[in-house]
Amino acid sequence: MQEQLQALRNYFDTGATRSYAFRLQQLQKLKQAIEAHEQAIYDALYADLKKSKEECWVTENGIVLTELRHAINELKAWMEPQRVRTNLLNLPSSSRIVSEPLGVVLIIAPWNYPFQLLINPLIGAIAAGNCVVLKPSEHAPATEKVMQQIIESVFDKNYICYVQGDGAKVVPEMMQSFAFDHVFYTGSTAVGRIIYQLAADKLVPVTLELGGKSPVVVEADADIAVTARRIAVAKFSNAGQMCVTADYVLVHTSKKQALIEALKKTIHHFFGDDPSQSSNYGKIINTRQFQRIQQYLQQGRVLVGGQTNADNLYIAPTLMDEVSLDASVMQEEIFGPVLPIISFETKEEALQIIARNKNPLAFYVFTASKENEQWWMDRVSFGGGCVNNVAWHLTNHHLPFGGRGFSGTGAYHGKASFDTFSHKKSVMKTPTWFDPAIKYPPLNGKLKLFKMVIR
Ligand code: NAD
Repeated sequence: MQEQLQALRNYFDTGATRSYAFRLQQLQKLKQAIEAHEQAIYDALYADLKKSKEECWVTENGIVLTELRHAINELKAWMEPQRVRTNLLNLPSSSRIVSEPLGVVLIIAPWNYPFQLLINPLIGAIAAGNCVVLKPSEHAPATEKVMQQIIESVFDKNYICYVQGDGAKVVPEMMQSFAFDHVFYTGSTAVGRIIYQLAADKLVPVTLELGGKSPVVVEADADIAVTARRIAVAKFSNAGQMCVTADYVLVHTSKKQALIEALKKTIHHFFGDDPSQSSNYGKIINTRQFQRIQQYLQQGRVLVGGQTNADNLYIAPTLMDEVSLDASVMQEEIFGPVLPIISFETKEEALQIIARNKNPLAFYVFTASKENEQWWMDRVSFGGGCVNNVAWHLTNHHLPFGGRGFSGTGAYHGKASFDTFSHKKSVMKTPTWFDPAIKYPPLNGKLKLFKMVIR
């Protein structure tokens, strides 16, 4: 492996990945390969997570192609050095910020959106001119295989290298033996901590896209029918295995019953009498995750759903009431189709519940009032979020996507991806035709003048 990593470094050092023409060509080749493998991607994501083609398009290959098209169209502009002003002291110099590739970067992805979460950061890394090591999740094996076909059919392994295996073994091995120029990790907060420590040892910068408990607040003035639809579509998409989904709902007491009724109706409308038979409803990734989520069902009163089947890794869309704040379902990220609904009388009371899990990756508030919206925006510190919506902010590539503190560090998507994988080199150019003696020793007696220029 060490030899392979050194080969990437050697290739990067040739400078081959730096030109606009090279980067553009690689992005175009990647786009064509993804388009050519469309059916194979659907089949793989169905095998791993029982995702429908429609859901795949919105959350996996379609969204990646949008990101690719955007990068292809904007690449030239992103690469342009950015001219900035020069302060009085340094005139007549000129100043610019140059984006240069970082070098050899490592991208590590999880299993829940196994395609999108590996390929989206790759687009930014290619656009920025890097060599890349890709480490997909071993827990989505069918998708892992298709991505291998795509990557190895398009790229030389000394440019983009696809590494498989048990992450707990291969990632530390690579990070301990080789100094990457950046590590981009998406996954759980627990493993994120390990990655951060491994990176710190060699002073490697990181982007960490982690998890957390993302709350939804439903104010008394919210439109309940719309709220229920928007919560349900995000919560039960991919069977709840989504980093930015609604983890739990905090609803004003006056609207609790109405919201529960609307959610029940919505779930039935989306998935029918038996969601296990619905082509719109996914499965849990594996037995370990199934067992973890299943134990939450005992931690409160099941209002709707609650059915499980270990044979096909099915857990029904479930609403829960009477959940203790000290139960593990309210302390851990649920990452499954179980939605606790908790009522509040005052905003402060709801805020205290949110504060039990600091820095959520996402935060959502449903309200008709600007004042309510502002109140919540001013008080909750979160990665990104929506007003009157859930999770869709991540599909807008004009918004940087990332967490803060416990939910992550750094951001990507669109231009933010290019910036994440670039070093911003500040350069000042000073002409030689003007070189006043005032700048040089002896300095005695020049203080007054310096005070005029440096203010
Ligand atoms: P996972 O178990 O697949 O792990 C993620 C990656 O880390 C895999 O590639 C795996 O091989 C590697 N890995 C596992 N153990 C490791 C170790 N000890 N050392 C180094 N690498 C290791 O996925 P997961 O962590 O179960 O993913 C689910 C979590 O990811 C949830 O918490 C979810 O919220 C979070 N997530 C966050 C985002 C985001 O954008 N912020 C997106 C998706 C998922």
